[in-house]
Amino acid sequence: MSLGLTETRSTCPYCGVGCGVIIESQQGQITDVRGDPEHPANFGRLCSKGQTLHLTASASVTQQTRLLQPLQRLSRGETLQPVAWEAAMDGAARKLAGIVKQHGADAVGFYISGQLLTEDYYVFNKLVKGLLGTNQVDSNSRLCMSSAVAGYKATLGMDAPPACYEDLDHAGCVFIAGSNMAWAHPVLFRRLEEARQARPDQKWVVVDPRRTETAAAANLHLQLLPGTDIALFHGLLHVMLWEGWTNPAYIAAHTTGFEALRERVREFTPAMTATLTGCKAQDIVQAARWFATAGPTLSLYCQGLNQSHHGTDSNVALINLHLATGQIGFEGAGPLSLTGQPNAMGGRETGGMANLMSAHGDLANPAHRAAMASFWGVPDVCAQPGRTALEMFEAAAEGEVKALWIACTNPAHSLPHQALVKRALERCEFVVLQEAFAHTATAPYADLMLPATPWGEKSGTVTNSERRISRVRAALPPLGQARADWAIAQDLGQRLETLLPARTSGGAKLFGYRSPEAIWNEHRDSTQGRDLDITGLSYAALEQQPAQWPFPAGSTAGQARLYADGVFPTTDGRARFGAPAFRAVAEPRNVRYGFSLNTGRLRDQWHGMSRTGTVARLGGQAPEPAVYLHPQDMSRRAFKAGQLLRVKSSHGQCLLPVQPSDELLPTQAYVPMHWGPEFAGGLGVNALLGPARCATSKQPELKHAAVALEPAGLPWRMVAGLWLAADRALALRHQLQLRGADALGGGYCSATLFGREPAPQLGVWLRLERATAPSAEALQTWCEAFGLNTPQTLRYADAQRGLLRCLALEGGGAAPTLQAMLLAGDVRAEAWLSPLLRERSPLPISGTRLLMASETAPLPMPARSPQVCNCLDVSAAHIEQQLQTLPGDAAQRLEQLQARLACGTRCGSCLPALRAWVAKVPAPAEHTGPTAQAQNATV
Ligand code: SF4
Repeated sequence: MSLGLTETRSTCPYCGVGCGVIIESQQGQITDVRGDPEHPANFGRLCSKGQTLHLTASASVTQQTRLLQPLQRLSRGETLQPVAWEAAMDGAARKLAGIVKQHGADAVGFYISGQLLTEDYYVFNKLVKGLLGTNQVDSNSRLCMSSAVAGYKATLGMDAPPACYEDLDHAGCVFIAGSNMAWAHPVLFRRLEEARQARPDQKWVVVDPRRTETAAAANLHLQLLPGTDIALFHGLLHVMLWEGWTNPAYIAAHTTGFEALRERVREFTPAMTATLTGCKAQDIVQAARWFATAGPTLSLYCQGLNQSHHGTDSNVALINLHLATGQIGFEGAGPLSLTGQPNAMGGRETGGMANLMSAHGDLANPAHRAAMASFWGVPDVCAQPGRTALEMFEAAAEGEVKALWIACTNPAHSLPHQALVKRALERCEFVVLQEAFAHTATAPYADLMLPATPWGEKSGTVTNSERRISRVRAALPPLGQARADWAIAQDLGQRLETLLPARTSGGAKLFGYRSPEAIWNEHRDSTQGRDLDITGLSYAALEQQPAQWPFPAGSTAGQARLYADGVFPTTDGRARFGAPAFRAVAEPRNVRYGFSLNTGRLRDQWHGMSRTGTVARLGGQAPEPAVYLHPQDMSRRAFKAGQLLRVKSSHGQCLLPVQPSDELLPTQAYVPMHWGPEFAGGLGVNALLGPARCATSKQPELKHAAVALEPAGLPWRMVAGLWLAADRALALRHQLQLRGADALGGGYCSATLFGREPAPQLGVWLRLERATAPSAEALQTWCEAFGLNTPQTLRYADAQRGLLRCLALEGGGAAPTLQAMLLAGDVRAEAWLSPLLRERSPLPISGTRLLMASETAPLPMPARSPQVCNCLDVSAAHIEQQLQTLPGDAAQRLEQLQARLACGTRCGSCLPALRAWVAKVPAPAEHTGPTAQAQNATV
């Protein structure tokens, strides 16, 4: 280790796999990150997102992105101004106390986040449920896994994933439903790939409307119609019953409610299920056979089931299959929901949601409420569940919620029904945003912004999808005036204790924590005797080894699996079958809205991109926002790749360029969830999603909307890009996005990064489309923004036709490179100028020829090709070129490919894509073999 280098063990802040990381820091800077080889969630592996974490925390990024001091807006429409912490918190507490006194505590809503640490969650929950005596606190986990919570409770009696990651190695059949884990949980998918390598007879069944990389790798892909999962699961059970593949002994001994379910699934014959779901009848039978007979069977599932207006029923219908076949409670068997966020589980444990209680208590249980009230020293815990996420914003739009305290989340991007969310944020009297990043889509609505510490500066714990609690540790002290989320919540609590003394009249002080450990110890003590009993754990123990719960006092290890004895935490100790009726999507596509929109993730981005969006190299796989359609639909509607479309639903609209994707079936459309206002302008993709939600879990149907697509009809276009100092690129990207959106009045604006860190320079790319050409003066200001106003700028202008082309070259001599470009009015030359700019290719031709408007390059160009391997920056074109020369079977060809290009040898996130390329590109004829020339090809 070099001088001054410090290593800090912590946890990745992105997905629910919960990978352990080792952060390297030196001289007050995070300099690198690597996987923790001893962490049982990842054993040293990280995906493309995890292994670039240090780039999100570099000085050049943080100085452009972080909120470093409290800011307040004295009146709406004014700009935010700095304010001291003391004044900010005093003003906020007085404002909230005034609202509570005048309108009651239910007039204040706390909207928090699955990215908070367990300690943050605990303090917020105690503040709202203990001090304020309401349940008006909900989390963005409502959008992610509340259906999984409700599904577990309805069937197994408690909210706890009963299986663990180790079960991947033992499973004979892995049933993956509504999860593209190859992209959303990549490190767990690596582990699954290795499990199948070690156990080649392991069967994978993937249930997904899209042929994702996960689906393409399966033994059987059930490409069902959107929202038809309940019919499919009922159909599988029908086949199991018909064939005698259920486990009657297990059903009799450990469950109730099976007869009603048997009656329910009677009509779901393979033929009928095939009609409802669009899957083939023989595939349904095969899936049922493998689920029931190729076990142990492990189910892995995520948002495809949860984000539905019948999300709880979908979960129940899947868990039914495990109970009916007895596939639960032993190695390799059980349902295992995958959490999207790093600490959605911690939020569940501390009851940090409107319908949950601390210590995994049941809000409807008077004894649980009384015990918690006594533990906290407050008169009672309110029995009435609070408003869930969307309900809270609906109430704010109606004027019932007067203040919103938003922590570590970005509702102006992530909630559905964005038109309503915007109304809510505008109408709400007082919006506080507790946030690490200065420029989220929610920031413009905030009356007060409070700087919070992000990953790298936070300390506490998180729990991953397999109930494993890990320590998160700070590598650096807080930057600027940022404070820990728990400390901000505690400060508010202490002030409200004084301003609203009624709930603590006995003199009890609810908030006096001096460290995250003190909070965690209190949380731990509250779990004594509960299903979530962690009284055998301590911070010191967790520093040694992350541990699964339950872990009661006296234990030497956590419990890897639940329900091995077939006893469930229900009143009679039996699991309960549900018999949900089949329902498809809330809004089926129709004559007016003829496409089914699905949303999901990109491999290298995470949620609202406030962190991954700051890393240019993570944009390589999908450089710009897009809506994806089946190629047949593109051709039927005469859409060209890159053409701007207006995507409309009955709830709103957004503008997005279209791209073809053979992952989709015809009449389906797909937009990555990441493309919110910050990158796609307008209200982003969630403007299209409506208020439909599951009646039980209140989780919104974020996975489906009926949409119409039409050409945007915006004839004037401009594209521009430049290279500039890395420590200015993010700020410029943000300014351009805001300025473009302002200038458009209904047009399209997207500003994105390109380039590859670490590098002294990064690129910024801007795309604008609007109805009419702007004035010559306005165009001139865009030229200035891109440094294209110097005497050296190569320029072609035709003011009458609104045409402008500007180029700046760098480096003299025979082959300069493009430093900046702008094409306005006619952007056909983007096809070849953009790659020249992005790749900084030498320009062997003169300036005049570079100013040609043609779509065809006047010079030889390498094929433009998407990036496949992010770590090693390997493109699809290079991979295809090499594969054409590689003989052998699939495994041999992949090995040779990696030997030549090194793709997929670092984080492995692109391995499923590489395997797909191996399958797609035929090997050369055997007798030809690789030629010496091919072997030596330069790549
Ligand atoms: Fe982080 Fe990737 Fe691990 Fe998820 S799989 S925790 S994003 S490194």
